[in-house]
Amino acid sequence: MKEAEVLVVGAGPAGIAAAIAAAEHGLRTIVLDDNPMAGGQIWRAGVRTKNHKRTAKYRALDRLARSGAELLCGYRVFDSGGATAIQAVSDVGREVLVACFQYKQLILATGARERFLPFPGWTLPGVFGAGGLEALVRGGYLIDGKRVVVAGTGPLLLAVAAHLVEFGARVVYVAEQAPIIKLAPFTVSLWKQPAKILQGAHYWASLWRTPYRTGCWPSEALPSKDGKELRAVRLTDGKRTWDEPCDLLACGFHLVPNTELAVLLGCAFQGEFVQVDTQQRTSLPRVFCVGEPTGIAGIDSALVQGEIAGLACAGKSTKHLQQRAEAERAFGQQLAKAFTLRQELRTLATPETVVCRCEDVPMSKLNGLTGWTHAKLQTRCGMGSCQGRICGPALESLFGWKLVSVRPPLFPVPVHALCSTESHKNSGRDA
Ligand SMILES: Cc1cc2nc3c(=O)[nH]c(=O)nc-3n(C[C@H](O)[C@H](O)[C@H](O)COP(=O)(O)OP(=O)(O)OC[C@H]3O[C@@H](n4cnc5c(N)ncnc54)[C@H](O)[C@@H]3O)c2cc1C
Repeated sequence: MKEAEVLVVGAGPAGIAAAIAAAEHGLRTIVLDDNPMAGGQIWRAGVRTKNHKRTAKYRALDRLARSGAELLCGYRVFDSGGATAIQAVSDVGREVLVACFQYKQLILATGARERFLPFPGWTLPGVFGAGGLEALVRGGYLIDGKRVVVAGTGPLLLAVAAHLVEFGARVVYVAEQAPIIKLAPFTVSLWKQPAKILQGAHYWASLWRTPYRTGCWPSEALPSKDGKELRAVRLTDGKRTWDEPCDLLACGFHLVPNTELAVLLGCAFQGEFVQVDTQQRTSLPRVFCVGEPTGIAGIDSALVQGEIAGLACAGKSTKHLQQRAEAERAFGQQLAKAFTLRQELRTLATPETVVCRCEDVPMSKLNGLTGWTHAKLQTRCGMGSCQGRICGPALESLFGWKLVSVRPPLFPVPVHALCSTESHKNSGRDA
């Protein structure tokens, strides 16, 4: 059992900013993250560059280390542990352990994941999530000279394509499903945020030789003759369909917030996002939420929201940050509008297309069912190790089904570890 005045779940940009602000104001702060290192998605650990000390990531991690906050990596929060405690599972040592953390104030900074939509061939080796492929490459996966198609939707596509080129890939095509008519007003709205224009320009500079097409999406991933790997991606603009030969497909359809912990704790929601006030307080006393679970709006939003929550925990004024936070919120709303999914994407899966990869459930078994509970009972869809994190958002897009309940443990936990915890013994819960 560990105690903190401020407990932060998630060490991405939002959690790091929150922890720094709280710890620098003298609060005993603990940050938990399930990855081996802090940084979240965008500051994920990777190969060090010559100028790494000048990066925002280095400066933030350095400041976190000096702030006095305790960073515990390799801890995955899977349940609450009473009114002011949560439980995390850790496998950093030799054994898998369950640890309980008591808090006075809790900041949820659990980030987002990619949305995947099923289409024929999307389970072929060689088809990756866009951010997933980037993460692998940053971790050492060699991509030198490989032909890559980047497809789907969202600003992440450009970032991923540019990074893959920097790592030596030949990005042969970027297919963005959003039509130019939606992207144009978004691009114009960026004049108020010069830093984002600069970032975009930097990406475009890496991609000046790569065809980038709006209103274009993948309809099928085509296998090699032996069916074992990817040969090409079939792209369409709704009128014309053509095959783009490639070795890899990096495909993602914007992001989905990681809100399972907030649901489990009982936070109120506004649509798919956690409802927060201007201090990032949720509907629960003592619980704050920052970053992507409150709206998909990128790193600048995550940083300012994190700082606001950390200061609010310390009882400090956040007035000077409110205008920035509001501008970033507006940016998030523009993103959502520009990258809305088109109707055609909902009809790509054929009866044979696997929708739930963990339990191998094809589309044909889901057609005609009435909702999540029905699908779980009839097919085990969403009941595998990812617990619906991948097929859930896909089914919401395809059929409008919403997950009906979130139950502990949020992630698979070894039964022996679960049984050893006092809270489990006391509550008598089943694993
Ligand atoms: C796969 C992927 C790749 C991306 N790549 C880029 C990019 O190249 N460029 C760019 O501009 N933006 C990128 N983004 C978007 C970017 O990550 C976000 O805008 C920004 O990082 C949001 O910061 P955050 O702190 O809210 O969340 P995140 O950075 O996602 O951090 C959340 C952290 O919380 C941890 N966590 C979640 N749940 C738990 C739990 N239960 N227990 C313990 N820890 C938990 C996660 O593992 C993660 O480390 C990417 C997003 C994704 C999903």
